[in-house]
Amino acid sequence: YLITFEGPDGAGKTTVINEIIKQLPQSLQERTLVTREPGGSKISENIRTIILDPENKEMDDRTEALLYAAQRSQHVSEVIRPALATGKVVLSDRFIDSSLAYQGVGRNLGIEEVKQINDFGTGGLEPDLTIFLDLDPAVGLARIEKERAGQEDRLEQEKIDFHNRVYAGYRELFERYPDRIKKVDANLPIKDVAANSVKIIRKQLPDIFM
Ligand code: C5P
Ligand code: MG
Repeated sequence: YLITFEGPDGAGKTTVINEIIKQLPQSLQERTLVTREPGGSKISENIRTIILDPENKEMDDRTEALLYAAQRSQHVSEVIRPALATGKVVLSDRFIDSSLAYQGVGRNLGIEEVKQINDFGTGGLEPDLTIFLDLDPAVGLARIEKERAGQEDRLEQEKIDFHNRVYAGYRELFERYPDRIKKVDANLPIKDVAANSVKIIRKQLPDIFM
């Protein structure tokens, strides 16, 4: 099974996944693979470096969308599909919904358009379950600012507007795929966010606990 974690920057995806792992039965932990995007394989991590390099700020939005799709294509073929084929449960920190929300809606490229290039890249692989860590993007950005205090510029309005569009994109996806995407309140303490996520996994995919 492929379980993906989504949400705005600063929602706590990485931290929550690490906490969820601790809450899983030992036997399931051993069958679980944790991975992330952009990245998850050597080539995909190299592409991540290109995408996130501040010196590449002038990157065209379509180029960016294609690079995200490219890193995902390699991640799926090299890591995710082989793991699924051996019966592993894969937990991915971001997956296709990030592209639909950030590039499709945030960058105004269109959900359909971005979905097409991704489906080409992944052969149409879809998550079995997506946990949407729901948080006001302003709260998420404030969390990140706090961590990087002094190092980062003040939040510009443009950045806030972008992240508000991304969040609207996630809400749209949540409404579009109610069977696949389940929401967890990411304002709660990390242990509770993890426990609520595990509850949802148990309910939606009871097989993986057997
Ligand atoms: O989740 P993580 O913090 O590792 O993401 C790295 C950066 O990539 C974040 O700043 C996020 O906003 C950005 N990103 C993006 N489009 C995506 C996925 C991530 O702009 N499709
Ligand atoms: Mg993270």
